[in-house]
Amino acid sequence: MLKFVILAVACFILYKLVTNDKKKKVDVKNKQEEKLAQEGVLVKDPVCGTYVSKESDIRIKEGEEVKCFCSYECRDKYLKMVD
Ligand SMILES: [Zn+2]
Repeated sequence: MLKFVILAVACFILYKLVTNDKKKKVDVKNKQEEKLAQEGVLVKDPVCGTYVSKESDIRIKEGEEVKCFCSYECRDKYLKMVD
């Protein structure tokens, strides 16, 4: 019986570790994207909020500002919003 309890606790701890780890990875990824955005490597898609490379081909020029998008769908949505 004691063995079973130890096994259950071990499984629970393992489960907690795995789920925490996943959450941490997402946090780290978001932080990395924010950092790159601050450094000017990534820009935020103004429609859906995804970070995209500044070298993205899907872009429009608005005066001096260049907007980059993750997809043509987002670009079209943005153009409709502006009009
Ligand atoms: Zn997008």
